[in-house]
Amino acid sequence: MAADTSCGFPGSASWPEGGEGASEDAHYRSIFENAVEGIYQTTVDGRYLRVNPALARMYGFDDPSQLIASFTDIAGQLYVNPARRDDFARVMARDGVVTDFQAQVYRRDRTTIWIEESARCVRSRQGHILYYEGMVTDITVRMASEEKIRLLATVFESVSEGILVVDRNLKVCAANQAYLNITGHQRESILGRPPLLSTPGFDESGLIERICADADITGHWRGELNCVRPDYVPFSAWISVTTVRAPSGDTEFFVLACSDITERKQQEERIRYQANFDGLTNLPNRRMLHERLEQAIRLAASANERVAVAFLDLNRFKQVNDSLGHRAGDELLKQVARRLRSTCGASDTIGRYGGDEFVMIVPNIGERFSASYLAEKLLYAFSDPFPLPERELYCSPSIGIAFYPTDADNADGLIRCADLAMYHTKRSAPQRFSLYMPEMRLQSVQRLDLEHDIRHAILRQEFHLHYQPKFDFETGRIAGAEALIRWPHPTIGQIPPTDFIPVAEDTGQISHIGEWTLRQACQQAQLWRHNGIDLDVMAVNLSPRQFHDSGLVRLVRQILDETGMPPDRLELELTEGAMMVDMGRAVETLRRLKGLGVRLAIDDFGTGYSSLAYLKRFPIDTLKIDRSFVRDIANNATDTAIIDTIIGLACSLGFSVVAEGVETAEQALILMERNCRYSQGYLFCKPVPPEVFAEHFRRCDHEPWSGLPGLRSVADASQKPAPRKP
Ligand code: C2E
Ligand code: CA
Ligand code: CA
Repeated sequence: MAADTSCGFPGSASWPEGGEGASEDAHYRSIFENAVEGIYQTTVDGRYLRVNPALARMYGFDDPSQLIASFTDIAGQLYVNPARRDDFARVMARDGVVTDFQAQVYRRDRTTIWIEESARCVRSRQGHILYYEGMVTDITVRMASEEKIRLLATVFESVSEGILVVDRNLKVCAANQAYLNITGHQRESILGRPPLLSTPGFDESGLIERICADADITGHWRGELNCVRPDYVPFSAWISVTTVRAPSGDTEFFVLACSDITERKQQEERIRYQANFDGLTNLPNRRMLHERLEQAIRLAASANERVAVAFLDLNRFKQVNDSLGHRAGDELLKQVARRLRSTCGASDTIGRYGGDEFVMIVPNIGERFSASYLAEKLLYAFSDPFPLPERELYCSPSIGIAFYPTDADNADGLIRCADLAMYHTKRSAPQRFSLYMPEMRLQSVQRLDLEHDIRHAILRQEFHLHYQPKFDFETGRIAGAEALIRWPHPTIGQIPPTDFIPVAEDTGQISHIGEWTLRQACQQAQLWRHNGIDLDVMAVNLSPRQFHDSGLVRLVRQILDETGMPPDRLELELTEGAMMVDMGRAVETLRRLKGLGVRLAIDDFGTGYSSLAYLKRFPIDTLKIDRSFVRDIANNATDTAIIDTIIGLACSLGFSVVAEGVETAEQALILMERNCRYSQGYLFCKPVPPEVFAEHFRRCDHEPWSGLPGLRSVADASQKPAPRKP
């Protein structure tokens, strides 16, 4: 626009007409009239002198004259922020021009738009500003998109997800701070280069190319990658790649978003570990064992192979826990786990099934080795003592073994079979492992019911005691009694103790039953004593588990105190097996019991270890010859010889001898001849309720050998006087 240097103000809203250079003017006029930008001239004090139609339209007026007429104060009427006019004027006064001046202005209808103007001032010859003239563009749309871009840029930098923008030539164009934080890269080192997730050398070559190629086809890609930072710290990233396409459909950019999921993965890993491994021993837990076994079975099924499952249960683990404390118990379990793991082959699994139970899975066992080989291998792990902080300790397992497909075709079934076989091992004392046999299942069903019923029997006091007299061959009278438990089951009828005692042993219920029996027998003995039935001894059976209970000695003392029973009138009967488990400890317990003044008897002597050597070490008073020897003494020379030996030995060690299961006079005679002083058996009396026992006692006391005339004469004939008991 040409500078108008005349002194007068242009007086009309439109282009000045006429004058020299009219055709040139027409050109300028056309530009002015048809320009897409708004063009204006204003007075310094804020009135429009001339505007073109474009500006009028921009500001919402029908024509320039309307616009000029309605503005008397540009600052106040046009600018949303009137101070902008001052800014404008200040720059103008200083520089003479204003360029790219942006402001928000009102249109005629009070809506606002953003404009950008460039203007200059026209001065008089004296240098006074005469008017401004300038050009205005509507930048509302541009401002909006710029604002959007600013917003997006802020988002881009502030999100916690790492974002990398890659162009279609696979060169990085942008990366946000989070991306740099996550990957450890420097912005300068990646911009304009092919993208990297890991540090060079660790990046799987072509990985990102492949990912982008995938994304190009489908529009996106998602996945997890393991990456390494430049400082060699590994991390796991969750990556999602999205393509940005031009309107033509061509891919322009790939936007790669990545988040660091290392912590989440570690947490997942921890959870997975906790769900599948035992925290104490770090062995697979029950769940994992199950899974591995199922897998082994699947493989074996397709390859026509066998899988062995060994179930191990530590013997006497409860005692370790009870006597040495849980910390020692835990330590023992850890050591056992370590040893078992070292016996494992690469394809075997050893896991902790629960408590003190371990399971070993041997897949593809083939004909490689037999069950006994497997058992020996496992047992070997227990051959050395386990060094616990408190002391060294021998520990042995009971093992049960079952095979796929012979015994069961699924994991549950197989473990159950092995477990049943293990129980079988536990119950057949010296045996160390058993192979599963189908009969065991039947036993177990009955066992389950028993377990439940025993609990009820304890609560409902269904147990009671019978007493079997101990007969004295020297006096023909009753010298003592053995208390034997009876359980008249409400629906089944009498259940023999040999059926339920082992179950009560396994389940721990024996401690309740045992305590009750002991107290009951002592109370009965005392009651009798007050009624003139003064027994030399009341014998009570102790099961192996009771014997190993660390509270036994305390319990016996307590019951003696409670009932007032003289200790030397109580005899505790124990089997050899119970004492053999840990001989050192057994001797210790026997000594402590002995210290209370009670008598000790070995029950069923001859059936167990029959190791005469240990007899000397044990502070015992009585040997009870098992009835299996008594049964055949009349016609089996070996049994007679054994009885001779036992009696001879007992005499030399100062033990008294009781023969069990004497049913016939013939047996009684043979025993008498051999100087066996005491015996029990149906010949004299079956185990009977207390009233019947009392009656029987009085009868024999009154008339020795009552009902046994044959024996009486033999006794008399052997010249031995039979004095009345004092
Ligand atoms: P045990 O201690 O050897 O008891 C002797 C068993 O032989 C008793 O069987 C008794 O009834 C039986 N008996 C006695 N005389 C004869 C005879 O002349 N011929 C035959 N054939 N048998 C005879 P019972 O009462 O069935 O007890 C079996 C086993 O159960 C006992 O063997 C003992 O080990 C256990 N038991 C019984 N009561 C208790 C108890 O209160 N506590 C514990 N822990 N075990 C008990
Ligand atoms: Ca007994
Ligand atoms: Ca016995």
